[in-house]
Amino acid sequence: MLGIPCAVGEDEQALPELPEVETVRRGAEPHLVGRRLRTLELRRDDLRWPMPKKALQSLVGRKCTSVKRRSKYLLVQFDGPKAPTALIHLGMTGNLIVDPIGPRAMRPEYRKHEHWRMDFGDRLMRFIDPRRFGALDVAEFDALAEHPRLKDLGQEPLEPAFDGAFLHRITRNRKVAIKQLLMNGHLLVGVGNIYASESCWYAGVRPRRAAKSLTKLQCTALAKAVRHVLSAAIKAGGTTIRNYVGVAEDAGYFARELCVYERKDLPCPRCKTPIKHATQQGRSTYWCPTCQG
Ligand SMILES: [Zn+2]
Repeated sequence: MLGIPCAVGEDEQALPELPEVETVRRGAEPHLVGRRLRTLELRRDDLRWPMPKKALQSLVGRKCTSVKRRSKYLLVQFDGPKAPTALIHLGMTGNLIVDPIGPRAMRPEYRKHEHWRMDFGDRLMRFIDPRRFGALDVAEFDALAEHPRLKDLGQEPLEPAFDGAFLHRITRNRKVAIKQLLMNGHLLVGVGNIYASESCWYAGVRPRRAAKSLTKLQCTALAKAVRHVLSAAIKAGGTTIRNYVGVAEDAGYFARELCVYERKDLPCPRCKTPIKHATQQGRSTYWCPTCQG
């Protein structure tokens, strides 16, 4: 099941980014909403952090009312008093799988690295994570915004508030390279290394450029590019990366459409200049020296 072709280089940890998590959210939502949680089994005490056993068990018997996303957290909300929400993070290698199961069928065997499962009657949600950097936590509805993992998160890039004016505002007085600023989760969430490189190419902005040097027009182009790149990746079901599979275990196909990322020395899709590669703050960066002036 994990024989997914590797589309990123060895120097790059293949993290699920926003499009992958959104793809999982969209896949999981119709299977969970309206269904009641029958049992929840934890096979260990912790993933990246301890899992709150008692609070998690209090979800049992409640009906799922929505599956939302904040940054790279999936928020599975339940009904009843205090409307608690389960926060799920895929970490570096986590897979969330929802299988239809017959109501009277034997429950499937545990898979290797399966750390928890939630039984929704005729749907079984399982979390499989070899490296265990994932997370599972619970917050009451009123406390969700103040949850320690959520409270300092920046703007969601696919919401209307993220536009050229916003980007222009947050880039003023910041000398940091624009690509790094895009990846700063306190300012803007969910734009990882692959999508930051791609967005800079679409907008014709060199990734190393000082953020504050961008004009209003460039900020508008870059905000548009970020939205375009993320939306296209979501539409394609997330980027094909080493450990990622969607809810139905389909690999994403966005890797085929990458314009600069992992395309060192290959022709720029726009002007045919060979794509350049460098390491920027320990991460691989790709750009076209002609288009990105
Ligand atoms: Zn070019």
